Formats: sequence, structure tokens, C-alpha cells
Amino acid sequence: MPAARSSESVSPTSRMPWVTIDTEALKANWRTLDALSGRARTGAAVKADGYGLGATRVAKALFEAGCRDFFVAWVEEGVSLREGLNAAGYGDARIYVLQGVYLADVPACLAARLIPVLSNLAEIANWCEGLERADARAAAALQFETGMNRLGIDAGELSIVKAAIAGGTLDVRLIMSHLASADEGTVQRKAQHAEFLALTEAFPGIERSLSNSAGSFLGPDFAFDLVRPGIALYGGRAGEPSDGQLKPVATLTAAVLQVRTAKAGEAAGYGAAAKLSRDTRIATVGLGYADGYLRAASGAGVPLRETRPGAMAFVAGHHVPVLGRVSMDLTLLDVTEVPADLVEPGVRAEFFGPNVAIDDVADAAGTIAYELLTGLGRRVARMAVKDLDYFNRLE
Ligand SMILES: *Cc1c(COP(=O)(O)O)cnc(C)c1O
Repeated sequence: MPAARSSESVSPTSRMPWVTIDTEALKANWRTLDALSGRARTGAAVKADGYGLGATRVAKALFEAGCRDFFVAWVEEGVSLREGLNAAGYGDARIYVLQGVYLADVPACLAARLIPVLSNLAEIANWCEGLERADARAAAALQFETGMNRLGIDAGELSIVKAAIAGGTLDVRLIMSHLASADEGTVQRKAQHAEFLALTEAFPGIERSLSNSAGSFLGPDFAFDLVRPGIALYGGRAGEPSDGQLKPVATLTAAVLQVRTAKAGEAAGYGAAAKLSRDTRIATVGLGYADGYLRAASGAGVPLRETRPGAMAFVAGHHVPVLGRVSMDLTLLDVTEVPADLVEPGVRAEFFGPNVAIDDVADAAGTIAYELLTGLGRRVARMAVKDLDYFNRLE
């Protein structure tokens, strides 16, 4: 898996798209969630390369804020995160692997001190057999099914699990489940909470974890011993109670390559989808769906457009609409309302960040901020900046 472009490969004069990562905002979001979680510890989901922003970069910043519990999806992600944290001297992080473990993965898990989250009896058997072959002892977590029907051990299998624990090989340190509707409605989450509570009674003294980001905003009842926020750390919306509480972390910008004026009656972009009803100044920007700026965010000419407005961008202090279809490497902006001398080639437009909420872009594209972040293309350089003011001085 080739790494995304890093800041080392980018000069401030580059016209390629990049995303800046405000690690101070990331830390502030973690502290906000940590304050909400009361006595429970606050962990961090850093799967999918830290929601597209670089797992090691994100985890190092969060470790500095006080986070010690990190969740990835795959053993391979955990191994690479362990290497990154070790290189920074951050040795005592706990790294959980959400998607279980196969027999062949056990040695890598042990070497990198990963804690597998075991979600079915086969995984429990794999893990125990791997430990016995390696003559090792190591901690594991168990995930139970409470209503999502995704990954999880069924309540009916509890006695088999208890027997495995009694066998002495399985050392369970965390019991978890996952909320399906933390940010919508209350019926399902109440049911899941009750079922989880009942299940954990079978494991006295073992730590419990139920909540993702949206669950972290549901009050102390949902916090248990450890919360596992992801999207909220990265500044994405986590249900209504999170509104106004989270700072944007990722800012996607790309440069204007050309500005032209088209006449009323002409059209712009593929399929002539944007019909111009007035003389229109158009800025052509070097960002497209190959960079993860979804075609569904287009201004006109995509199916969603009958029910939702197109996405907005921000350039030279003005909010401007995306014009016509987003193409592979280019997006058109209608900059008619921006004073002409402010928009010229080289000026960068923001596609999400402090001035354009990532959730608004996601809404326009009929998706969620998670998909925008994790879908950022590999050629979009990821750059950590101490703060955006510093970045702006570079431009
Ligand atoms: C991804 C994930 C999280 C974090 O979810 P967010 O909605 O991003 O907060 C927590 N727990 C599990 C099991 C997950 O898969």
C-alpha cells in the first residue's frame, strides 16, 4: 500500500491539492471528548490511516494529549502504527485490532503487542491456538453482538466464551459492543445499552467499552470504562449534541489554474450540465474526484442535484458554488461574485475546513464526512501544520 504523499514532497508553491491537519485542533477535540467521558478513559479510532489523515501523525498528537488506547481495523495497520509510535518513543500505547485475528496473524500481533478484538468463536479459537503455539500470554478484547448484526459474539455463546476463559489461555481485558444508532433515535441505543449491561455482568471487573463518537455525547451512562471516538476527533459531526463543540481538523485546498469569463447562454463542464444564465466568471481549480472530491458534490449534472444544493467552496474570503460536474482532476467554481483581482491562478480555494464545514460538503454529496476523509486520494499531500495561521503565511 503506497503511502499518501507527505509534506516533505510538497513545496508551498505547489499547485497540487493538499490537506492540512491541525494537530492542535485534534488535541482540543480529544480533550473535549475526554471531559465528556467523566471517569472513563478516552481512546481514539485511528483505523483507515487515521481517517485518511495519517494514523501515526494523528496517534502521536493524541498520545501527547493523553490518549493511550488506539483502535485500528487490521493487524497490518496495528503493526505500522506500533512502528510509528515506537519511533517517536511512545511505547506504552494500547493498540486494539477491531477486525479480529487469523491464526497466521498471531505472531505479528504478539510482536507488535496488539490487542485483538475477537468477535466470534472461530477468532477466539485462532487466538488461543496461536498463543499456545507461541507459548505466549497476551491480552485480548471481546466484542459482543447487541443489535447491529455486524461483528460480534452472540449472547447465546456466552457459556462457551466463559469456558475458554476458564481454560486459562484467553486473557480478556476489555468487553465491547458497538452502537448502531448513536446519532439517530433513542430506541435502538437504549436496547443496545441494556443488552450490553446485562452481558458485561458475566465479566465482573473487566473493562467495558460501548461508545463511538456519537455515543460519547450521550452522557456518562454510555461511557463505561473506555470510549472509542473517531470522527469527532477529526472534526466531523457526531449527532446533534456535538454541534458547535468540535473544531475542524482537516482543511482541503487546491489552486486556481485558470480564470475565464463565459457568456450567458453558454454552458460549462462535462455534459454542458451547468447552463449559464448570466455572464459568469469561472475559476478552474486543480482538484477532482481522483483526489476524493466526490463527483456527487457537483453543482449540476449529477442525480442528487434535484434534491440537494451543490457543494460550496471558499476562495478569497467568499463562499462560491461548485459549477457543473466535478471532473477527474478539475473542479469549476463560479467566482462571479468575487472581486476580479482577488481570484487569479495560484490562489488556493478551500473545499472543506474552517470556512466550509466538511459535513455540509458531505450532505451535498449525499454522504458523510467519514467517506470524504477516508476517500482522500493518494496524490493529495497530507501536511501537519501547528496552526492554520502559520500555514497561511507560507502561501
Ligand atoms: C470506527 C469505529 C469506532 C469509531 O467510530 P466513530 O463513529 O468514527 O466515532 C468505534 N468503534 C468501532 C467498533 C468502530 O468500528
